[in-house]
This record gives sequence, C-alpha cells and structure tokens, in this order.
Amino acid sequence: QAPSTPSRSYGNLKDEDRIFTNLYGRHDFGLKGALKRGDWYKTKEILLKGDTWIIDQVKTSGLRGRGGAGFPSGLKWSFMNKPGGPDGRPRYLVINADEGEPGTCKDREILRHDPHKLVEGCLIAGRAMNANAAYIYIRGEFYNEASNLQQAIDEAYKAGLIGKNACGSGYDFDVYVHRGAGAYICGEETALIESIEGKQGKPRLKPPFPADVGLFGCPTTVANVETVAVAPTILFCISGHVNTPCVVEEEMSIPLRELLEKHCGGVWFSVPVMPKHICDDVLMDFDALKDVQSGLGTAAVIVMNKSTDMVAAISRLSAFYKHESCGQCTPCREGTGWMAKIMKRFESGNATVAEIDMIEEISRQIEGHTICALGDAAAWPVQGLIRHFRPEIEKKIYAFNAAKGNSINA
Ligand code: SF4
Repeated sequence: QAPSTPSRSYGNLKDEDRIFTNLYGRHDFGLKGALKRGDWYKTKEILLKGDTWIIDQVKTSGLRGRGGAGFPSGLKWSFMNKPGGPDGRPRYLVINADEGEPGTCKDREILRHDPHKLVEGCLIAGRAMNANAAYIYIRGEFYNEASNLQQAIDEAYKAGLIGKNACGSGYDFDVYVHRGAGAYICGEETALIESIEGKQGKPRLKPPFPADVGLFGCPTTVANVETVAVAPTILFCISGHVNTPCVVEEEMSIPLRELLEKHCGGVWFSVPVMPKHICDDVLMDFDALKDVQSGLGTAAVIVMNKSTDMVAAISRLSAFYKHESCGQCTPCREGTGWMAKIMKRFESGNATVAEIDMIEEISRQIEGHTICALGDAAAWPVQGLIRHFRPEIEKKIYAFNAAKGNSINA
C-alpha cells in the first residue's frame, strides 16, 4: 500500500487565525475592546451546557497544559468531578500566573494585552470543575499586568459577567488576584497554594494531590494562564541571538528551524549552536522533542549562536536554580549548590576532566529524587551540556591546567 501523503501544512497560520499576537499593541485591553473582539460571546450558553459537556469539548480538542508539563487539560479538569458529586467543601480554580521560567514570557503578554480572555476562561473552566472561585496568583514583578487584570475583573463584575449569577446563568463565581513576591518556586503548584494561604512558598509532598486537598484544604485545580485563556492556541516565545526576539502564535509541530526563520529574521551570523541535526529536523511538539531528550515545556526557545560560551551560559542557569531552590529536600538543596560551584569552575577551566562525569552523576542523583520538578529542571541543562558540548568543557580544562603546568587528572 502506497504511503499516504501527509496532508498537514506547517506554519501557515494566517493573521486572522491568531487569537492574540496579531492584535498586540493595536487594541484596547478593556471590556469595550474585548467585546468587539468576540470575548464574552455566548458565554452564558456555554455555561448552561454544563460541566460534562465543557470537559468533553476540552478533551476532544486535545489541549494539553501550557505550564510546562503538558498534561491533558480535559482529564485534569475532570479530576474534581468525582462520582457522588460535591462533598460539601468549596472548590477552587487556581490560575498560575507566576511565570518565571527562563526564556518564558507568553503569559505576561496575555495578562498585559488581553486579560478578559483569561477572566472569561476562568469562568468557563471553573464551571467545568464546579469551582466556587478562581484565585489568579500573579508574579510580583508583573505590576502593570496585575493592574490590567484587576481592571478587567472589576469591569466583568460591574457588567454582571462574573460574581453572583454570572452572565445570567444562575452560576455564582468569584475571581481574585493574589500577587506573589518574586520567588520562582511559587510557580510550583503546591508551593503556590501554600503562598496563597500565607505560608512560605514550599512545595508539598504528593499525595494528597490538590484535586483532593488543595487550597485551604479544599479540592483545587491549578491551571496555567495560557491553557485557560487560549485553549486551542499555541504561543511560542523566542529570545536570544535572533534578529527579532518575539512572542508568536504558531501551530503545534511547526519545525523549529521554520519557526526561527519565519518569525525571527534568522539567527545572528546564521549558524545556531544548537546541535545542527536536531535544530534542522525537530518539530515543536511534546512528543517529538521528548524523542530528542528535550521537552516543549512552556514553548520558550532561547537561541544561542556560535559566539556563545555554552559552559558559561549553563553555569548561569545552574546559579539560577541554586538561588531558587527552596531548600526543602537534600538532593536539590545540596546538589544544585554543588553543580553551581563546579559549573563556575568549569567556566574558567579550573577543574579536572573526571569532574565532568562527577557532575553528571550528581545531576542523575538529583533527577527524579526531589519533591518538585525544580530538581529535574536544574539537572537537565547540565546533562544536555555534557551530552552535546563536552569537548568545550574539556578544552577549557586542558587550557587552564596547561597554563598552570598541572596534570589534568590531578
Ligand atoms: Fe524545594 Fe528543590 Fe525540593 Fe523543589 S526540589 S521542594 S525547590 S528543595
């Protein structure tokens, strides 16, 4: 049987197909502008269709969480709808707007330019899980975004779109903004819950999962801003050594090279240091990137060209994770510190070749052995550096020790 021709075309989104990025900077983020763009249209009808219908639609769409883990959203939203119905405790939707992942700046754009889409998304997602209220936990540094968001919430209350009898549907739903104070770890869902409760932002051991015991001990679903606001749309953030850093909306599975060439005016000096065979071929989706020992995460792309000192770049990331570790579990608390120290010495070459294997072993001991995913996030860049750029580390070590007259295995 002849192989079927793939019918899908990549990267052909037209301006009118985009939900946000064709509008940035050219529209009013307030209610008047939002209504003109079709927000809050037939929201009542959607609410009246009920929780099961909304969840089924989200499942059918194939939407996966945009906070980094890529968990199927419909399934996640269904966790609070257990057989037997509500157990009398209030239920909460928590929106994670604590965007702090290196290179990620997509939720910020939504909060800044189109907050009504998020507020409307909260209401619909909240209805799906029969939540009584949504808490939007917004990164402390996002001052202007919090202000725009609060304006959108105030407008929605005033227009009867949220609050008692939201949109005239008979469903009551409140939305609150909670501002963080700049800790990266509060982007982890259980640390975020602790922080809203007024405690230190430290991740909880799971189980119990938030769907059972979440905010104030009640069933809670934590969802990312983009997931709730733009359901079927995908945003990519591209920064670094490109001619035009940007946040763009593109189809899932667009080839990375096409994404960079189409939207970023190419890479400076036109040669990316990302291993060429991966950069040329890889598709931007959860599964394809996993196959090459990477991940889509929040769809942030940091491009580094040949002039970049990769060892220094990863050393900077290691310092970031060491600084942001909450210190609760030993492999992360101690391991990120060790990795940051060794990476700092690798930068100048003041190390031994044997330490390359040692730091990899440390990263393996951190990976999968911690309460939250910060440990993994700290381990993976180091592993990637060794996998793809080991000769660069070795070169620095040889040069440093030769200049000192040391034996490299000393
Ligand atoms: Fe804290 Fe790190 Fe453990 Fe996460 S992995 S709970 S950040 S010590």
